[in-house]
Amino acid sequence: MNTERIIYFDNSASAMPNPNAVKAAVDTLNIYANPSSLHCFGLEARHLIDEARKNVANALCCTPNEVYFTSSGTEANNIALLSLAEKNKRNGNVIITEKTEHPSVSEVLKHLEKSGMKLIYAPVPNGQLDLDFVCNALKNEKVSLVTLMQANNENGAVNDLKKIREAIKQSGSNALFHSDCVQGFLKVDDNMRSYTSAYCDTASVSAHKIGGLKGTGCLFVRKGLTLQPVLFGGGQEKGLISGTENVFGIVAFGNAAKLFDGNYRSKITSLREMFITLAEQELGDGISFEIPEDHIDALVNISLKNVKSEVALNYLSSKGICVSASSACHSKAKTNPVLASFGYTEQYIISSLRIGFSPFNTEDEVRILVNELKNAASFRMRSSK
Ligand code: PLP
Repeated sequence: MNTERIIYFDNSASAMPNPNAVKAAVDTLNIYANPSSLHCFGLEARHLIDEARKNVANALCCTPNEVYFTSSGTEANNIALLSLAEKNKRNGNVIITEKTEHPSVSEVLKHLEKSGMKLIYAPVPNGQLDLDFVCNALKNEKVSLVTLMQANNENGAVNDLKKIREAIKQSGSNALFHSDCVQGFLKVDDNMRSYTSAYCDTASVSAHKIGGLKGTGCLFVRKGLTLQPVLFGGGQEKGLISGTENVFGIVAFGNAAKLFDGNYRSKITSLREMFITLAEQELGDGISFEIPEDHIDALVNISLKNVKSEVALNYLSSKGICVSASSACHSKAKTNPVLASFGYTEQYIISSLRIGFSPFNTEDEVRILVNELKNAASFRMRSSK
């Protein structure tokens, strides 16, 4: 496949890697020693990890000691939830969550449910968390764990981590708080960027959503909280995450985190605004948007009237344009359970597409996308006559 002809708007599934982050990693490929080795070469590899840890910590507004590298956001979510549930079980057996969490959270919770935990799902009407429900459940149940994501991967809805922490505090509950920050990391508004480390006990992020590479993530564990490992082995990452470190991926991650600044966020915002304005102009009532009040700008959920998602996706794909029919992780399910939980209509869901923006997309690409969405819409109307 000629990737030069690809127009990529599936950046929420996997973002276009940042060329400078990849270059920085490639430049270190000759440092192949094991970072646990005590000779000079091993120490050099260790130094690369330490530098990356500082960059990721800086992006999370925390200290390097609070950053634990993992192999993915999925691994970070699994380790945090399994470990926190076990740690806090003396304080209760109830977990507060929402039906719109990513499978790397919801599947772990179903596993915990089988071992006796009770799951309480907070409603998410109109795409947004019902915080009053969370407050009441915290007051009335023996809650040991709250797990609510920072930004949703389907509609970009943002949960205010500060308000969730305040709710836990005010209820007098001893619940621990985990947040899946994989989509929100570096994408939420500047005023919320410090919320992850300021208000969560643990949080997960992933390199390939911010211009790093697949195979690297991180678990934030706040200072003073000790987690028991769920993986056993060589004791890397202070004994929490055993396994020889992916130095190459970690270097790319550190650089991607350092480079993802306010300019990148502004670029994403302006591309998104341009897309919405142009799409409304060109498609009129042939397109609708489900945009939660609080959202990240990096993705937008749309629906093409009377055009099934797969039809539009396949048409766009034939033109070299990549979008998601729904989150890639749900793409085998018949309907999209997350969008259904948000209360979106069946008609909207079967025609929904997710457009994910990157700072490396261009305005020309946005114009081409809108033009081809228009073609996809009119193609469907002709064939249904
Ligand atoms: N959490 C959310 C919200 C995601 O969108 C994803 C990936 O799509 C993950 C977790 C899993 O991250 P990873 O792909 O690094 O395992």
